[in-house]
Amino acid sequence: MEVIILKDKATVAREASCYIANTIRRKKNPVLGLATGSTPLGVYENLVELYSNKEIDFSGVKTFNLDEYVGLNKNHKASYYSYMMEHLFSKVNISKENIYIPNGCVEDVTSECASYEKSIVDAGGIDLQLLGIGRDGHIGFNEPSSSLSSRTRLKTLTEQTRSVNSQYFSNMDEVPYHVLTMGVGTIMEARHIVLIAFGAEKSEAIASFVEGPVTAMVPASALQYHEKVTVLVDESAASGLKRQDYYKWVYLQKPQWQQNV
Ligand code: PGA
Repeated sequence: MEVIILKDKATVAREASCYIANTIRRKKNPVLGLATGSTPLGVYENLVELYSNKEIDFSGVKTFNLDEYVGLNKNHKASYYSYMMEHLFSKVNISKENIYIPNGCVEDVTSECASYEKSIVDAGGIDLQLLGIGRDGHIGFNEPSSSLSSRTRLKTLTEQTRSVNSQYFSNMDEVPYHVLTMGVGTIMEARHIVLIAFGAEKSEAIASFVEGPVTAMVPASALQYHEKVTVLVDESAASGLKRQDYYKWVYLQKPQWQQNV
């Protein structure tokens, strides 16, 4: 796991978008795994800017989002479909048929999840998966105690997650209890994982998943078993890490040709 400590939120977003842009440039038909929430907003802003400056082209790009609420119409302002349309998809030249987001409004959730998994496999797997992290160490909506081998399925949100996410709804009662989310096992199959976080409220989750034991109580800790994970954090999110000096030293030694790949 490579831990890169950067000075602020804007730098984290810029670095993450460089990894994504390089994947888009390098691969003929790149497959991206995308995340929602407050964390990746700056990344999408940068990608839109790179697209506007003709530095990247989304025409061959396929995307798979991590999760979606169950029972929320996709046109609801707080759905992840609406989020992605607003912040990225409506602003770049991606084809509608290349956009995959779990459909949380189907009757048969089991077959929706199985077909989502199959679509990822049919696309050739995910080249780069962008991740945020919850304060409790969740990735996607894999809450603590999720199986570290889990696949796309229905999950029940914790009250903490519902409360954090209530900012996007008119009131707490509107926040769904259930979601469809890629599993930890699904996420682990991405060829490269870029996890980003900033702010002191994420410092405990970052310290636990990078330096603590691998445990289902911190689902992100499964990433310790992944061969290519890049963790991009600002100083505040990094503040709980014991080996900050070492990570900074390693980054200083990194040759230029290895940057952002
Ligand atoms: P946030 O959520 O970006 O809104 O903090 C992160 C997550 O829950 O993965």
